[in-house]
Amino acid sequence: MYDIAIIGGGIIGLTAAYECQQRFHDKKIIILEKEAELALHQTGNNSGVIHSGIYYKPGSLKATNCRNGIKKLLDFCDNNDIPYELCGKLIVATTDDEIPVLNNLYERGLANGLTDLKLLDASECKEIEPHVFAIKGIHSPSTGIIDYRTVCSKIAQKIVDNGGKVKFNSKVINIRQKNKNNIIATRADEIESELVINCAGLYSDRVAQFTQNNIDIKIIPFRGEYYKIKEEKKYLVKNLIYPVPDPKFPFLGVHFTRRIDGAIEAGPNAVLAFAREGYKKSDIKFKDLTEIFSYPAFWKLGKQYWKIGSSEMLRSFSKTLFVNALQKLIPEITKQDITTGGSGVRAQALTNGGELLDDFRIVRNGKIIHVLNTPSPAATSAFAIAENIVTHLDT
Ligand SMILES: Cc1cc2nc3c(=O)[nH]c(=O)nc-3n(C[C@H](O)[C@H](O)[C@H](O)COP(=O)(O)OP(=O)(O)OC[C@H]3O[C@@H](n4cnc5c(N)ncnc54)[C@H](O)[C@@H]3O)c2cc1C
Repeated sequence: MYDIAIIGGGIIGLTAAYECQQRFHDKKIIILEKEAELALHQTGNNSGVIHSGIYYKPGSLKATNCRNGIKKLLDFCDNNDIPYELCGKLIVATTDDEIPVLNNLYERGLANGLTDLKLLDASECKEIEPHVFAIKGIHSPSTGIIDYRTVCSKIAQKIVDNGGKVKFNSKVINIRQKNKNNIIATRADEIESELVINCAGLYSDRVAQFTQNNIDIKIIPFRGEYYKIKEEKKYLVKNLIYPVPDPKFPFLGVHFTRRIDGAIEAGPNAVLAFAREGYKKSDIKFKDLTEIFSYPAFWKLGKQYWKIGSSEMLRSFSKTLFVNALQKLIPEITKQDITTGGSGVRAQALTNGGELLDDFRIVRNGKIIHVLNTPSPAATSAFAIAENIVTHLDT
């Protein structure tokens, strides 16, 4: 019998467990993870960026949790010798019509409390990134890089040291209520817990449906594919170079990222994945696909985004088109300079109304808390999101 069972060993499940231990010292806590390792999905396949909080609507959960989350993340890293680098990032406008969007972004960043942002002209951008093409830019010195898998291993170690349990190969397949407690069925056994926190990422909606059939969102998987810059061309990128994002689209556009291990990546794009854990183009799961295509909201979304969706899809199949997008930022980069890299799949909630849910969503249903939408910058924000989750336990 446990006091709190957490489903999912990504950064949200782990920080939630850690925060529960910090707040309630005497509670018995277990994390149930379906894989044999931690952070194998979104957390372990992301860009490894510590976002500074420029992009998000002031007052939103994304904005507040990102700003609070960074401080907590960096404190955790400082106290546990986890490497990170606040290397700074440049967002560049490459056409005149992007300038008003860039200016709005700057204002948004200021409204979110980023006092260190600087608006730069073309030559100032080149001082920071000598190979970039920009007509105007924003420099965010407090953006950083980190390996979130290292963060997760350290959190898990602390949870176990504090008496918590992490159980691998434990896919949750059902939850039912008995005597005011939750009985959680996994493939191997059943576990009883007073409270449950659902942090199942790409499967959070399906886990929620075990006890609730009125969930008003569905998780749509969007794959992000990366290329790697060849060793001899790494000099083209010093740190992080981003385009001005399309304000109508929740993803940031293909960008250049220096990883904490020294690799330079280009990407990710955003294409509809044909399986929730569809890391390759050839990964197709009939159940996942029919679920997406039979969801009326998906077709509403398709109507709105068919143009951008099809161009992302084309770019996924054509290295030339991918390189064209990269050349907007670094004109001298060529097809020969990049090799195929990894990929990650984003869990993006789509509402029944056909909207891509922009903000984080955490809901409580009796003795279960569901974390239903934690896309980027949730890795950066995880320690603050965990505090929010625990606040739901108090109510
Ligand atoms: C391509 C990409 C790039 C990104 N870049 C960044 C970035 O640079 N910075 C940033 O802050 N954020 C970034 N993000 C977002 C960030 O990675 C995610 O928001 C965050 O990792 C979400 O963590 P999570 O714990 O909710 O999900 P996950 O890491 O996916 O963890 C969910 C866990 O639940 C487990 N699980 C699922 N179903 C079950 C079940 N039934 N039973 C038991 N276990 C189950 C899964 O195996 C998994 O381990 C990016 C995401 C992607 C995909």
